[in-house]
Amino acid sequence: MQNITLLGSTGSIGKKVLKIVARFPERFHIVGLSADKNHKLLIEQALEFNPEIVCINSDEGFRQLKSSLDSSVQIVQGSEGLVQAATHENADTLVSAIVGNIGLAPVIAAIKAHKAIKLANKEPLVSAGKIIIDLARKHSIDIIPIDSEHSAIFQCLQGEKARQVKRIILTASGGPFHNMPVENFKNIKKKEALNHPNWSMGGKITIDSSTMMNKGLEVIEAHWLFGTDYKNIDVVIHPQSAIHSMVEFIDASIVAQLGVPDMTLPIQYALSYPERLEQIHETLTFDILKYEKLEFFKPDFKKFPLLQVAYDCGKKGGLYPTVMNASNEMAVSLFLNEKISFLDISRMVIETLSSFTDNKMDIDLDSIYAADDWARKKCGEIL
Ligand code: NDP
Repeated sequence: MQNITLLGSTGSIGKKVLKIVARFPERFHIVGLSADKNHKLLIEQALEFNPEIVCINSDEGFRQLKSSLDSSVQIVQGSEGLVQAATHENADTLVSAIVGNIGLAPVIAAIKAHKAIKLANKEPLVSAGKIIIDLARKHSIDIIPIDSEHSAIFQCLQGEKARQVKRIILTASGGPFHNMPVENFKNIKKKEALNHPNWSMGGKITIDSSTMMNKGLEVIEAHWLFGTDYKNIDVVIHPQSAIHSMVEFIDASIVAQLGVPDMTLPIQYALSYPERLEQIHETLTFDILKYEKLEFFKPDFKKFPLLQVAYDCGKKGGLYPTVMNASNEMAVSLFLNEKISFLDISRMVIETLSSFTDNKMDIDLDSIYAADDWARKKCGEIL
């Protein structure tokens, strides 16, 4: 039995995690749940899964949980509450499906508390990849990826030797604006950016997909998860999203993982690894005959400058990925609140990075938080 604390249970990934848990009650048990402010759904989830600890960010949510749940349930709040839930003594596994770098502290605390880590929340790996990976190595904890591309690579690497990997090929759908002429980008509305052609996801990652920053974040994520040099990580546009990523080996053989574009698959694999469990619904069946063609294109780095920015920040290292990630979180949130335009997202990230002069290579959590804070303030000034 895996005893799970699930952070971000009310989100797109979180809800799918709970569907899998409900389908295999003999394998998975929920110890902790969390949300930002969606107390209504969190209460429903708590009544169904009977967790021992529940965390919410908002004050109103905290009051509602206190009045709706049994007094035996520990109700906690805010960043400290996330750490308490992630390190709960009866949990052996943290599934982090929270969005943003707010997930950094709980994942660090969970590694230190020797919990197994299943990670969808990519922003902490981008912001503080070296710290997380070094700590996980020190405590002999494997970080199992949930992100579909990284799950694909992880599956392709089973039974292989890291030194025989030549390159990683991350596939990208290209997002909703793959075929739109760049001259039209100035008119892009929030509704269009939120309309992803293949995947149904939360707001932040959907906007990241439309700017291709999501692929940039994934390049850095892959660098840390698989220890691959940036020069050996390529991105290929594959609009059908049938191949979720590929690994090329030194003998020129390429191994790919295919499946329908539904996060249920990578989540289930991360939960059940190293075993596989039965598919949980019919729509997950992948019928290759339904695909008349599988296409592949080079990414357009001029049209989607944030992809290049991510490669550059990853290669520069130190605090550059932290500043990039924090300014992107700010810019996406401002776009979602209709305070800035689509093109302002990349402008804000690039301007923040060009003002950053305080990089260092010898980083710790304090310098990560200081750089993250600096970048968010800088975005406020730019706004
Ligand atoms: P959603 O926006 O759908 O869900 C985010 C979850 O985190 C919600 O439960 C939300 O609570 C909670 N949350 C948000 N902000 C805070 C906060 N400040 N404090 C505490 N809880 C918070 O996101 P997704 O499920 O789409 O994505 C989650 C993570 O997984 C992201 O890092 C994303 O990049 C990654 N990912 C997502 C994929 C997908 O298909 N969705 C695919 C691959 C990776 P509330 O509901 O109250 O707002």
